[in-house]
Amino acid sequence: MKVMKFLCSIPVILLLLYFLPPLGVIVFLARYLVNGQRHFFRAPVVIAIVSLVLLIPQGLHLANQNFSLGLSIPFLNEIIGSDIYPKLADYAKFSFIVAIIVLIVTYLLRSFLSGLSGKFSQLLGSYFSAKQAEEERIAKENDLKLKEKALTSKQKTPHVVKCPHCGKSNSIIGTVGKCISCREPIEYKEVKHENHHQ
Ligand SMILES: [Zn+2]
Repeated sequence: MKVMKFLCSIPVILLLLYFLPPLGVIVFLARYLVNGQRHFFRAPVVIAIVSLVLLIPQGLHLANQNFSLGLSIPFLNEIIGSDIYPKLADYAKFSFIVAIIVLIVTYLLRSFLSGLSGKFSQLLGSYFSAKQAEEERIAKENDLKLKEKALTSKQKTPHVVKCPHCGKSNSIIGTVGKCISCREPIEYKEVKHENHHQ
């Protein structure tokens, strides 16, 4: 990882943009894979500034020529006239354009991705709240079923009722029934005190 960090460092990118421009662009973009969100604008901004600094002599030279300012800046003609300067100026223009494009592209990509992740988390949130609601609904349903079951089992429990009319012991299901002996209606009266059932 340290090697990757070094390979994607700003000086290396600057050198690569000079000697191997396509590789320089690739490494420039690969930097975002290594660094992620950290120092997001640093590389393009530094590279754009370096490019602009390199273009200062040419800018001054052009200004002098076009507006006939007659400025005498020391070494300006020597710099402009040197063998290396045209190459450096071309490099600076290229690097500046690359830096600006990378800045724009990565900025757009980042806002797109953060928008996407925002939507995603929103989606995830609504999914989880829906899931929770469903779980609550199921729990309520199960509770109801259990209560219902308890109720029906209570209703279906046979009760022994002594007929008030003829004195015959009847076993009825539920709370009401008919005496098997005298056909009179009989009722089971629930006794709340548990000591009755033994
Ligand atoms: Zn009876």
